Amino acid sequence: MDFHISTAMQLTATITLIIGMALAFTTSGYPRNLQYPIQLWVRGLLIQPFSYALLSMREQIPDWLSIVVANTLLVVSFTLLIQALREYNHRPDRRLAFIVIILLAAAGEILLTYVWPSLQGRIILISLILSIVLLYGLSAIYRAPGPITQPEHLVAIMLGAAIVIMLTRAALTPSSSSIFLTTSSIMQGVVFTYASLMPVIATSGFLLMCGERMNKDLTRLATLDPLTGVFNRRTMTELANKAIAASKRHGRALSLLILDIDHFKRINDQFGHEVGDLALCRFVECVGEVMRESDILARLGGEEFVLILPDTNEKAAISLAERIRKHLCDSEFTVSGWPLPLRASIGVGSLGPAMSNLETLLRETDHAMYEAKRAGRNRIFAASAIRRQSSLDIDPDGATP
Ligand code: GH3
Ligand code: MG
Ligand code: MG
Repeated sequence: MDFHISTAMQLTATITLIIGMALAFTTSGYPRNLQYPIQLWVRGLLIQPFSYALLSMREQIPDWLSIVVANTLLVVSFTLLIQALREYNHRPDRRLAFIVIILLAAAGEILLTYVWPSLQGRIILISLILSIVLLYGLSAIYRAPGPITQPEHLVAIMLGAAIVIMLTRAALTPSSSSIFLTTSSIMQGVVFTYASLMPVIATSGFLLMCGERMNKDLTRLATLDPLTGVFNRRTMTELANKAIAASKRHGRALSLLILDIDHFKRINDQFGHEVGDLALCRFVECVGEVMRESDILARLGGEEFVLILPDTNEKAAISLAERIRKHLCDSEFTVSGWPLPLRASIGVGSLGPAMSNLETLLRETDHAMYEAKRAGRNRIFAASAIRRQSSLDIDPDGATP
């Protein structure tokens, strides 16, 4: 069966146009953080059909349109698709580099059409330029922080295959002046079949990437405190109950700290709510610098936090609380150059007969934290000591329960 290049190009143009338009209609339904990358992708898709339409009209329209404009538009459309990937992964903006690449492509096409006419030269030039643009896309995927998702791998495979195909085509293009772009050959067949598949598969991959991002964002919203990024109360309850059950099962210790920032209202009153928010984030940072990776930090609400400490007995928990308290005292938190002391009162509670579930642990430890406040703030109280103290108050002989 003959491979008709012009028909393939027109087919590619039509498919890409339909996908681009369909996506353009649905962009507003995506969350705000994804709208710009999707818009860039749509622009890339919508420009490509014009390029293919012009390319397919070779010999019927002037060369400057079917060669120079067509190839330049192809490069523009690829740079937009890659920009979309880079925006998606928050990679540095390469707009300037892309503008230079587009201008080089246009200048090269003009030279190789009018000054030194060479189809081979043009194919090599465009293949190399598009490969460079696609490499920027691969770097957007593989150099982004965090794990690479399956859809990202799919898009990367599409980009990688495109690079291989284009470089092979550049290497295999005969130098004979008798070849035409629309001449049918196996290589041309591979190139244009791939060109028509790529928008469909790469767009599916890109939309799956967006879907993954939305799922991740929703999970984050449901589990984390949006301001400080630590677990919210609901997730803490879930994780703490699991940790408590595991500790009981294996006969291991577990402790928790309740940390309440001292005189936090004053920060809000003196410097405003935004500085208060920054102080909360700085506080979380300080605690994060001292706690272990296996510890679970959560915001109970307002300026009150809980730190679950698996495999930690009371003595070790008190020592950690002391390190956190000291670290806060030693850490600098400044607002417009003014030092702002961040201090906390901390209650410590450990799993035991008197505190055998999350509810009692939280209640007794909260009580200890309030005792630390009452005693003057910026200090640590253990729930067990308070219990002992209250039993001393009741029993003048000092017998402990
Ligand atoms: P104490 O030493 O007794 O704990 O005093 P405090 O001022 O820290 O505690 P209080 O409960 O009197 O005030 C807590 C303040 O925290 C009041 C509230 O406006 C503020 N707050 C709660 N949530 C947020 C928040 O998300 N951001 C900011 N900036 N402030 C918050
Ligand atoms: Mg407070
Ligand atoms: Mg409070």
